[in-house]
Amino acid sequence: MEFLRNAEIFAPEAMGRGDLLVCAGKIIRVGTEMPGFPSGFQVTETDLGGRRLIPGLIDAHLHLTGGGGESGAKSRIPPLTLESLTRNGITTVVGLLGTDAVTRSVADLLAVTRSLSEQGLSAYCHTGGYSLPPATLTGSVRSDIVHLDRVIGVGELAISDHRSSQPTLDEILRIAADAHVAGMMTNKAGILHLHLGDGIRGLGLVREALVRAEIPARVYNPTHVNRRRALFQEALELADRGCTIDVTSFPVGRGEDAYAAGEALVSYLDSGLPPERITVSSDGGGCLPVFDSEGRLAAMEIGDSGSLVRTLSALLDAGQPLERVLPAFTSSVARLLRMKEKGRIVSGADADLVVLDELGNVTDVMALGRWHVRDRKMVIRSVFSRGGE
Ligand code: ZN
Repeated sequence: MEFLRNAEIFAPEAMGRGDLLVCAGKIIRVGTEMPGFPSGFQVTETDLGGRRLIPGLIDAHLHLTGGGGESGAKSRIPPLTLESLTRNGITTVVGLLGTDAVTRSVADLLAVTRSLSEQGLSAYCHTGGYSLPPATLTGSVRSDIVHLDRVIGVGELAISDHRSSQPTLDEILRIAADAHVAGMMTNKAGILHLHLGDGIRGLGLVREALVRAEIPARVYNPTHVNRRRALFQEALELADRGCTIDVTSFPVGRGEDAYAAGEALVSYLDSGLPPERITVSSDGGGCLPVFDSEGRLAAMEIGDSGSLVRTLSALLDAGQPLERVLPAFTSSVARLLRMKEKGRIVSGADADLVVLDELGNVTDVMALGRWHVRDRKMVIRSVFSRGGE
């Protein structure tokens, strides 16, 4: 049993100073009055000295197997490590395939997802990828979501991008229907996670889908919507109609026609739209390519899972209240993904916790009741980084 005392708790709402009791991977009590512990109970006590305690971050867009491959085989990005996630306060992940669902497979993605899960994270993935017909393991999107325990949705299916399969409206509807019905059958997320490219068609297909079919707006979950300013305006309109939109914490250069994730989040929250319909993800392990007008790769960087917590601390630096911006990294993501025990510090929730120092940096991380990081030191390392242990 872990007894965390004297924390400034953000649940994500501001709860003030309090204590927390963790047992068997769960938060079993939050408050100021703690019961006496029966003798014989092993209780480890930690005084957090008033540091901020937040739910573990949920990163719903990660290339867990490594993405890339758009500049020849040498540009295939290696898989993400456990440490690259926990060090950055991420305790729940959703992995996916991107451009390359040919040399990468759903089977491989599922295996990497299971590996992270065995190492103590809450790890899930989507079936499919950029292209059509979607890559699957059991033969269809619907049966992958229904039969494979870790698979919760489909994507990232690419639209408005020269790397997409140029899906038609009917194709989008068919896949969204499969995700929706499979989600209902399993209580899983059941979403169609849509990669948005730079194309001027933007979110046109999603707008048409909302008009043409009965599938609820929540099923369509567009990401990278901050990559062009006009695209972000289109995304706001979709959020108003019930979609949850996702912004990516990629680096944005001066003068670029994009919004940094933090900037997009604040402008969304200022707009008065339902605050829970925006989330932030890192695109960690993915490639961040720059193409010339011929579609040739001009430059490539790798998406960094640390950009999520850096976005959060930059928002705090800029004077944003933590309780205002934190849901987009925690409770709002859990809501979209139908993960009832995630994203909140309440009794009965999973014990996924992050301690922040006064600058908003991660000092301690607990996932499912186990400390992975303590005082900035990794205490759980992945199998192959233990160096001869
Ligand atoms: Zn993408």
